[in-house]
Amino acid sequence: MGAIRLVHLYPDLMSVYGDRGNVLTLMRRAEWRGIPIELREVSLGDELSAADVDLIFFGGGQDREQTVVSGDFLQQKGGAIREAVEGGAALLSVCGGYQLLGTSYTTVDGRELPGAGLFEVRSVPGPRRHIGNVLVETDLDGQTRTLVGFENHSGRTYLAPGLQPLGRTIVGAGNNGEDGTEGCVYLGAIGSYLHGSLLPKNPWLADRLLRDALAHRRGEARVSLEPLDDRLEDEAHRSVAARIRAAGGRVKSGAW
Ligand code: GLN
Repeated sequence: MGAIRLVHLYPDLMSVYGDRGNVLTLMRRAEWRGIPIELREVSLGDELSAADVDLIFFGGGQDREQTVVSGDFLQQKGGAIREAVEGGAALLSVCGGYQLLGTSYTTVDGRELPGAGLFEVRSVPGPRRHIGNVLVETDLDGQTRTLVGFENHSGRTYLAPGLQPLGRTIVGAGNNGEDGTEGCVYLGAIGSYLHGSLLPKNPWLADRLLRDALAHRRGEARVSLEPLDDRLEDEAHRSVAARIRAAGGRVKSGAW
């Protein structure tokens, strides 16, 4: 059986606040289990075909970088990503990447960038930036767990009715700072505002992505992953979650 094919989109342009750590986490957690995984970095001008990918990571970036990649993304990658996800591939997107996978993202300057339309979400600029640590509660896969991360965005994202949010914000703004939702989930694809890196401190989410990617690679409906010794990761999660709770509400929301 071939290796899991992990694609990192625009690592040279869309990668902020430790986003690359998500890719490292996915690689390591596969390797620690002896699951072969190969990384392909895909940027401007590179072709992407749905048949060549099991797992996709798309990180964040500021409006400038989003404007630079948006044409290339729509023309050369968006369709393949939709097809891959519809066919069972897994995906994690953070902040700027999440916004570009929606139907549209409007920059602070009022420029509307059409998105790939994978997620039925629309993002528009808000009156201020949301900056700070975030604590989210999620019932993903029927189990209540928390996610910790860091957000820094001016865009506000609104989900179409019926689209599943990733979770509820306990501390922080999440999608828009209004409706208490954070991120979204569509099949094996996840959109989130959480940088951090997200996956090292929330290893179960990394395993959900790996599990879906491996099932896709093997052409099986479900696979199970061997558990890892996550005592250190769980301790990191608990201590960060406790710190965010203790600071609760004191999340900075800076003016422009
Ligand atoms: N430019 C976007 C915003 O401010 C995304 C920022 C990011 O990816 N951190 O909303």
